[in-house]
Amino acid sequence: MKMSKLLAGCFFTAAMMMVGAANAGAQQNDSTTVQQEAPAMVKAVRTVEGAFLNSSAGGDRLGGNKIGYLSPNVVMEVVETTEDVGAGPLYKVKLSENRTAYIMPENVVDTLVEPGYFKTVIAESGSVSNVGKADRIALGIGARKPYLVYEELDPHVMTIDIYGVNNNINWLTQKLDLKAVKSVDLIQLDGDILRVKVVFQKNVAWGYRIGYKGNTLEVYLKHLPEKFTLKGMTVALDAGHGGEQPGAISHKMRLNEKDINLDFAYTLKKMLEKKGAKVILTRPDDRTMTMNERKAAALDNDVDFLISLHNNAAGPKVRGTSTYYKYIVNRELAKCILEQVITLPDVGYFGLVGNFNFSLGQPVEYPNALLEGLFMSNEQDEAMLADPRFRRQMMEKTLKGIENWLKRCKEACK
Ligand SMILES: [Zn+2]
Repeated sequence: MKMSKLLAGCFFTAAMMMVGAANAGAQQNDSTTVQQEAPAMVKAVRTVEGAFLNSSAGGDRLGGNKIGYLSPNVVMEVVETTEDVGAGPLYKVKLSENRTAYIMPENVVDTLVEPGYFKTVIAESGSVSNVGKADRIALGIGARKPYLVYEELDPHVMTIDIYGVNNNINWLTQKLDLKAVKSVDLIQLDGDILRVKVVFQKNVAWGYRIGYKGNTLEVYLKHLPEKFTLKGMTVALDAGHGGEQPGAISHKMRLNEKDINLDFAYTLKKMLEKKGAKVILTRPDDRTMTMNERKAAALDNDVDFLISLHNNAAGPKVRGTSTYYKYIVNRELAKCILEQVITLPDVGYFGLVGNFNFSLGQPVEYPNALLEGLFMSNEQDEAMLADPRFRRQMMEKTLKGIENWLKRCKEACK
């Protein structure tokens, strides 16, 4: 103990002497030269429309694991450019002192900022109000800082972490006419993370929007439908692939997945319309479409929910039906559809898949789920998919699953 203290003392003295020497040198230089180097600029990136953060530099055929979309013009410090380990070289960016994430170069514009640009800002104002079809949380942040959102059910809570922010919002007015939100609480975490904890009135999630207006972070939490019936709802159906993208091609009959998906969509559309729903087909015919165009079709029509319709492919022995969701709040919708489609005779059970990194599972503005009917790559499944009667039955079960989900939503609201 004594020895280490002594050594530490020696080191301290030596270090002081070195600092002293350096200062003396600097003073000498100051007197002989007036040239001073400008402080080095800091490498940064600025988000563009539709930018999202990844949780790692990894990736597979569906890309890197997305953890959240960001508003345009959020500037973040670049820590490094990663090696290509699946999703291509990505930027590792700093969200706060101790929190990093990854972002694709196409989601940002490179920029340089002055040292000190990334100082922690102080949030000064906040309000929660009912603005008609949604409850709105508005937080005056002072700069466009990055954020991540996590929503869960049982209980229905949303956590919004805003990075590089100190809280000085000393009152948060919460009007009594709120329809979605029960309470909002502000919690300062980890030095420079402001956590917004939203507790909802009901145990049903119907989507939200988040983004900056100026330097105010706005979160719109959609009100639930008055009635959980298809009548009066707007439903988006997305028939996967199309045009130059056939999707999976079956081995024996050379069926194109895109055609079966479109047939699913039109069949289900008719059934939904009979129940009084308005149906938006994101892909109305055999055309090539980007994922962004499909998303835009759903968002522009302010849909109540979206169902993606696909068929699967794997090794020749793998067969069965499956449904998928990205966010835990969409699990019930995917589960209700699966519970029904597996009751069809001779349909195999492949599974209920969560955390699925599918592009059309990413939007948070409305509930959504994906049905992968059967496997195009399995002979038995292929023969079933080739039969229009079977395809109709599969959509009848999908409809039943959607109706069951709406019933459960209604029950959860009691
Ligand atoms: Zn597909």
